Amino acid sequence: MTDQYTMQDPTTRYPKADQSYQQQQDGPAVEQQMPHKPDAGESSYRGSGRLQGRRALVTGADSGIGRATAIAFAREGADVVLSYLPEEEADAREVVALVEEAGRKAVAVPGDLTDEAYCTQLVETTVRELGGIDVLANIAGKQQHSEDIAELTTEQFDETFRTNVYAMFWLCKAAVAVMPPGSAIINTTSIQAYSPAPILLDYASTKYAINGFTKALAQQVAPKGIRVNAVAPGPVWTPLQVAGGQPAHALPEFGAETPLGRPGQPAEMAPAYVFLASAESSYVLGETLAATGGMPTP
Ligand code: NAD
Ligand code: MG
Repeated sequence: MTDQYTMQDPTTRYPKADQSYQQQQDGPAVEQQMPHKPDAGESSYRGSGRLQGRRALVTGADSGIGRATAIAFAREGADVVLSYLPEEEADAREVVALVEEAGRKAVAVPGDLTDEAYCTQLVETTVRELGGIDVLANIAGKQQHSEDIAELTTEQFDETFRTNVYAMFWLCKAAVAVMPPGSAIINTTSIQAYSPAPILLDYASTKYAINGFTKALAQQVAPKGIRVNAVAPGPVWTPLQVAGGQPAHALPEFGAETPLGRPGQPAEMAPAYVFLASAESSYVLGETLAATGGMPTP
């Protein structure tokens, strides 16, 4: 059977986008309704005990990169608390089933990350339900394209920052207070933090902020034995992109700009989160692990 260790040509491992990818949904998109369902490793990710007994909180765990990470964490031996929006319950149910099939505990906690109280409760719930927290994967994110600064509303600017930056701050703050030495925090930045698109002013700005926050916090909490790192995905085929992340006309070309010439899949991101969560990366702190299909980062 093919798994993430099978030797494959990365240029053809997954298809390029084409005209049939041009179908938008009203956000938040539900993965189940996507015409081309992303691959989150459901039938391919093979665990080997790299996170045995860990207690993980994953945000955005219902779909896309968070879903792939939750599946990988569980198959590597971790129990998982899943955060997502209430509207995404159908996607989240599938992930709960997959985590349980891996023989691990799944705790579903829907809610809105722009609310500080929900973020604090998420960490409290993880400690109560899993007996502690040693991995925090901040993967939830908001991305809405806007062609002109004149049309970018304060409301959107604010929501993008609250979702991508404030929630990360609140979750890190609550987690650091209770994490034991050996714990890991993984934030999610983007190629947009290096090569910002003109239509993603607010989103790209949050990703620059996440990089700075990650490098600063990594130094601050290193003496506690907590490691903080980030993953920087390139163009990855997920609901985020079809729910207003890109204009519809751009979807058939999605990922074509990468040296691999195709979009990445969530299954290709999860191993980066596993590496940074696991003790095998014990000397890696404040790092951004880019998985961009070859798009250069500094
Ligand atoms: P996705 O839509 O599958 O996941 C995003 C998730 O964020 C949603 O499932 C939702 O559960 C969560 N979310 C959004 N707003 C929320 C809120 N207010 N409260 C609670 N949860 C909320 O898309 P994805 O592409 O897998 O996104 C995951 C992360 O990857 C994001 O941080 C995104 O910025 C980042 N990223 C994605 C790409 C890409 O091309 N897809 C590239 C670089 C970075
Ligand atoms: Mg989702």
